[in-house]
Amino acid sequence: MNQVVIVGGGTAGWMAAAALATVLKNRYRIAVIESDEIGTVGVGEATIPMIQRFNRLLDIDEDEFLRETQGTFKLGIEFVDWGRIGDRYMHGFGRIGRDLWPVGFEQYWLRMRAVGRAAPLDSYSIARMASQANRFTRPRSDIEDSPLAEIAYAYHFDASLYARYLRRLSERLGVVRIEGKIVDTVLRSEGATAGHVEAVVLEGERRIEGDLFIDCSGFRGLLIEQALRTGYEDWTHWLPCDRAWAVPCESAGPLTPYTRATAHRAGWQWRIPLQHRIGNGHVYASAHMSDDEAAAILMARLDGAPLAEPRLIRFKTGMRRLAWNRNVVAIGLSSGFLEPLESTSIHLIQSAIQQLIDFFPDRGFEAADVDEFNRQSRFNYESVRDFVILHYHLNQRDDSEFWKRCAQMAVPATLAEKIRLFQSHGRVVRFNNELFSEVGWLQVMEGQNLVPRRYHPLAELQTDDATHAYLETVREVIAKCVAVMPDHAAYIAQHCAAKPM
Ligand code: FAD
Repeated sequence: MNQVVIVGGGTAGWMAAAALATVLKNRYRIAVIESDEIGTVGVGEATIPMIQRFNRLLDIDEDEFLRETQGTFKLGIEFVDWGRIGDRYMHGFGRIGRDLWPVGFEQYWLRMRAVGRAAPLDSYSIARMASQANRFTRPRSDIEDSPLAEIAYAYHFDASLYARYLRRLSERLGVVRIEGKIVDTVLRSEGATAGHVEAVVLEGERRIEGDLFIDCSGFRGLLIEQALRTGYEDWTHWLPCDRAWAVPCESAGPLTPYTRATAHRAGWQWRIPLQHRIGNGHVYASAHMSDDEAAAILMARLDGAPLAEPRLIRFKTGMRRLAWNRNVVAIGLSSGFLEPLESTSIHLIQSAIQQLIDFFPDRGFEAADVDEFNRQSRFNYESVRDFVILHYHLNQRDDSEFWKRCAQMAVPATLAEKIRLFQSHGRVVRFNNELFSEVGWLQVMEGQNLVPRRYHPLAELQTDDATHAYLETVREVIAKCVAVMPDHAAYIAQHCAAKPM
């Protein structure tokens, strides 16, 4: 293995380039081919806390990174109008409550809620309470055993600045950028690797050969689909949204440390606060709403004046049948798409890169490695898919055919099992170390009004008063912690303010 060719210079291409250049340490040549004429999808601005691992791998200075990308901090996602119109809940990062007795905190909370002696779930989560107060601090390493020491956070950033930032980093590490539009792909015709990609051909007939090709060409899947015909598994029967309008607008009001997802009649709207602007978009199902109506809904619900014309993006939810086929590994939108409701696409890029590092091939391309890579990719996609479907399925809205259908649809068996477990005793089980923890599932199920019939029988081992006192202590500690946290905007101004754009 000598030459790694990354096709595409969007978020996926430059994340892959930066990570591989860091890990491979100049032992392999890495090239990124991108076309200014084609450009990138240009969205993808909200993340989840796992991205910190990626930044650590790259030894990124967090303050510099946030300055360069106009970034802000994110403590979770607020969901508005999802269960019923008028509902509001948050999926906050980090834990809820505090473990003390044999069963999980939520079980004691369910028990106290049943007798009207529990505060709303928010009160037991530092991420949720800090979000409501627009406060933020990084975890405090100087205090032990405090919610302040456990704050989990992610980032919002400008997608195009992020790709630029990673490009600079990659080029410093020796990655070669090739500007040009690929017009053809040449497959090997003979030998043990017949059918593998031998080279891509750019306009002007420049030919770039490689041993391993990483397809980061976006939705078009230039190598994985157009050249290798790998096939795509369509999940639109579960997730019928297939379009989005995206538009940035001027900032207004306080700088919120969370993403907002507001449900509309046939989809939902995202709001991502950055230092220099707010990113907005309306994801919708074209079978239930026209493009004009979807654009009008978005434009009528911006916090500030629009900074550009809205842009329409079409997509099909699902995944490539194989993410790794022959000597091509698809990463990013070329490998599949799940709408950004839980900000998971950049994370799926990150985990695919980690898997590629784990199963990095030699020229033999062992089938066992490729199969395991594909198995893991499928598991990652399917578990995120189930979590996203949950938001749609658990709704009680009756204002449109779209929501009624989502509530009635048959969901994947893996998700049905999770719902059944929660309905019986409020139990949440994390399957095989899937991305979202019990706390994430709990918050969405509870936030969308799924009420368990009972709670864990062992939550009754303590008296009502002792259980109530335990919950109250947690609530009070969290309230005190939030009270000493700085305002989010002030924290950014002090640590990582970007230059005005
Ligand atoms: P692209 O950005 O499309 O890049 C493709 C690259 O391939 C470009 O450089 C292009 O020039 C190059 N290319 C293509 N064809 C050729 C050719 N013939 N020759 C040469 N070069 C070529 N993810 C999140 O994690 N959080 C979010 O909040 C989020 N929001 C999203 C909202 C929407 C509406 C959508 C559609 C996606 C969102 N995503 C989000 C996903 C995220 O945008 C993508 O995962 C991320 O941007 C990666 O895209 P990419 O690099 O795979 O593709």
